[in-house]
Amino acid sequence: MTRHLAGSFASPPGAEAEGGPVRVTALRAQAFHIPTDLPEADGTFAWNATTLVLVEVEAGGQTGIGYTYSDASIVRLIHHTLAACVIDADAWQVGALWLRMQRQVRNPGRAGLAATAISAVDCALWDLKAKLLGVPLVTLLGAQRANVPIYGSGGFTTYTDEQLREQLVRWVAQDGCRWVKMKIGTHPQEDPQRVAAARAAIGDAGLFVDANGAFSVKEALHYARAFAEQGVEWFEEPVSSDDLRGLALLRERAPARMEIAAGEYAYTLDDFRLLLEAHAVDVLQADVSRCGGVTGFLQAAALCEAFHVPLSAHCAPALHLHVASAVRNLRHQEWFHDHVRIEAMLFDGAPRPSNGAIAPDMARPGCGLAFRHGDAQRYLIH
Ligand SMILES: [Mg+2]
Repeated sequence: MTRHLAGSFASPPGAEAEGGPVRVTALRAQAFHIPTDLPEADGTFAWNATTLVLVEVEAGGQTGIGYTYSDASIVRLIHHTLAACVIDADAWQVGALWLRMQRQVRNPGRAGLAATAISAVDCALWDLKAKLLGVPLVTLLGAQRANVPIYGSGGFTTYTDEQLREQLVRWVAQDGCRWVKMKIGTHPQEDPQRVAAARAAIGDAGLFVDANGAFSVKEALHYARAFAEQGVEWFEEPVSSDDLRGLALLRERAPARMEIAAGEYAYTLDDFRLLLEAHAVDVLQADVSRCGGVTGFLQAAALCEAFHVPLSAHCAPALHLHVASAVRNLRHQEWFHDHVRIEAMLFDGAPRPSNGAIAPDMARPGCGLAFRHGDAQRYLIH
């Protein structure tokens, strides 16, 4: 059942008393290790499986779900450290619980693993709150758009040219994507030819490249000029995102039509602020499964507005869909091959593209997803 916001706040279906608290009664985390369909690599990493950590939180007869792509060790962190912040707390007060979790991990450190764990719990709490109200999460947050443009993302450096072409063309021709992104930087000397092959395959569609921080500043400048000849319009992490000065230099000197993007490893609001203050990016990326969940993503979006920089949502499209529909300054959502595949395999309600965009299902409450535990059981590791 979906209730619409008008007039429904006064008596949410899960409330124990009108306007009163709804106590969180359970918090569970599980890790699943899911093999990729083919070996995959980018400029600085190679993998053949992805770890999904699922969080479920219960209150008022509803179950909220959130997840992150992280390390299985955070299952213990969630059960032993974060659960105490959430169990028996008032499920309505998501912002207060977010702050309590941030304070709880002060000593082990707020970034990295802890940030991914908090992100999954925060997403679950937002999903739960919307379900308690009987509305889609985007309705609770306030919709800014009816659908979210996506760009196809994969093009791993392990792919043959044929595999690369086939994947990119599928996104453009079948899913209607206006842009596609490929990985570079594993064998840089091969990249100009791979990029040219991609360009020949996709025609006029926008072409993005992602080096995952593989290059030095000088190398990145060299390749930026070579890629510009193929009309590459987005160069993601040309150098390490830790090198704010290097990113800023690239942004100044790269061809005018080539945007520099980074932000996927920003875990805190200050990580985003430092990227923006350094003028390091033309478009900021944020990942709801790393940056503090829906709460952190909304903060990043507000910060982007203050710096007049557009925002792009990184990976995990099903998890981003509602919050990406609710922020004013969104450029697009990454339609990342691994996560699209996992979300379609394991979540009922995972979005499907239409004309290069995905849209929330307004008939489903929360983030519109239901985890298929039966199908996921064979991947369970913790
Ligand atoms: Mg990237």
